[in-house]
Amino acid sequence: MILPGETLGILGGGQLGRYAAIAARTMGYRVCTWDPDPESPAAMLSDDHIQGDFLSAPLREKFLSRVSAATLEFENIPSELMNLLSQSVRLSPDPVAVMVAQDRILEKEFLNKLAIPTVPYRSFQSESEVELMHDGELDLFPAILKRSRWGYDGKGQVPVKDLTDLKAAYFQLGNVPCLLEKRISLEKEVSLILSGNPKNGYAFFPLIENIHVNGILHTSVAPASVDPNVQAVAREIALLIAERLSYEGVLTVEFFLDSHGRVLVNELAPRPHNSGHFTIDSCGISQFSQQIRVLVGAPPAVPVLTGAAAMVNLLGDLWVKGDPDFSVALSSPKARLHLYGKKEARVGRKMGHITVLDESVDLALEEALRIYRHLQ
Ligand code: ADP
Ligand code: MG
Repeated sequence: MILPGETLGILGGGQLGRYAAIAARTMGYRVCTWDPDPESPAAMLSDDHIQGDFLSAPLREKFLSRVSAATLEFENIPSELMNLLSQSVRLSPDPVAVMVAQDRILEKEFLNKLAIPTVPYRSFQSESEVELMHDGELDLFPAILKRSRWGYDGKGQVPVKDLTDLKAAYFQLGNVPCLLEKRISLEKEVSLILSGNPKNGYAFFPLIENIHVNGILHTSVAPASVDPNVQAVAREIALLIAERLSYEGVLTVEFFLDSHGRVLVNELAPRPHNSGHFTIDSCGISQFSQQIRVLVGAPPAVPVLTGAAAMVNLLGDLWVKGDPDFSVALSSPKARLHLYGKKEARVGRKMGHITVLDESVDLALEEALRIYRHLQ
């Protein structure tokens, strides 16, 4: 086991890295973050920060000379770097799991091999494959074309209604490998976060129910209001994925529940997730503390959700007329305000969130949305 006093590395410096750094420091570890951004939210709360390109060999040597183990807060860390780091330090999750999760085509193929249901899709590696498609060849329209790599918060996605649209969308996304997904009617979206490794086993947080607006997470509540069978199926699927990848770390599985009651996997995140932020205030152990526990070789702690929680994201949109007035948020005894310390607010940028704890999801969400309205 890696013991307190040693230095843990975090690849990526966003808010997820910031919480991982807080969790590590709370447990007595030193933290070294690495991010190209000099003003990253995680760097402010780390012992040490390396600023610069992930592909720089001197920076890699510097990072390796400082850390005993490393984790990530962002799945788009170059695989070259992940592979090189894994030869010298403990890295969780391992490069193969990250490679699968950072590429939608590989991810869907991996899920299909395990016979895990997903939305119907087709992948395109090149423009000529798109050109060869014929009307009526596919039953995927209306659909969404998604870049295979580098998409997040609904970015890198274009709605397409027919073949003509598809050709334009493929060009618009930059002629890169893409996935065409049937747009399905969603009954609900839920996510499940597990933590652990094959040796110590896996612990689950309660199933979370998510509402997205314009492709960006808006609210999450836990526990999700679904048939208990849905949580059982989601756990079974997440466990199968974790076991097949010999997964080490925190893994988030995003699910779609379709109008026929089916549980489909949407995508995987090889890290803590925005929808799991309620765990910071309500589960006795946060998703970030789990990440650090697994990284240092400890078994995952057992999460305990008391009552219910609702989270609402605070996007940069709330800052367009200047800093919002947080007095209502701070005055609510059931609410916890979180701000990530980002200097520049941009539309769609995640600036913070509010978690409300109450006896029921309905009460918690009502209060979270009341506070949110005061910030608008
Ligand atoms: P991101 O990486 O941006 O989170 P997702 O693939 O999860 O990308 O898409 C973001 C959101 O867009 C989803 O949470 C869902 O609300 C909606 N969405 C994505 N794919 C589909 C689909 N095939 N059918 C219906 N809605 C979808
Ligand atoms: Mg998603």
